[in-house]
Amino acid sequence: MALETVPKDLRDLRTCLLCLLVKTIDQFEYDGCDNCDAYLQMKGNREMKYDCTSSSFEGIVATMSLEDSWISKWQRVSNFKPGVHAVSVTGRLSQGIEWELKSRGVAYKSRDTAIKT
Ligand SMILES: [Zn+2]
Repeated sequence: MALETVPKDLRDLRTCLLCLLVKTIDQFEYDGCDNCDAYLQMKGNREMKYDCTSSSFEGIVATMSLEDSWISKWQRVSNFKPGVHAVSVTGRLSQGIEWELKSRGVAYKSRDTAIKT
């Protein structure tokens, strides 16, 4: 885990609650989540952008290949793109979004280690 690559300015960074991809809030608005926009449709959607991302996360790991990574196994979403991901996040997707994901065959598991459900 290369933590020396953590950006100095974390103020505008947010992480996707589904795949933990870390980007700036503007990137989420313009491009959506590279991995989950088919499910979450954050692109150009101000409300979803805030509902599906969190600014409170810990640890950043840059991954070059996700084909066999712990993230893709953990979250069971295929077609992950290489990028910078958070290790843990505070916050979770709303139940409505969780149900929507379930209806599309995506099993969401909260990455919030502070909440024990
Ligand atoms: Zn995502």
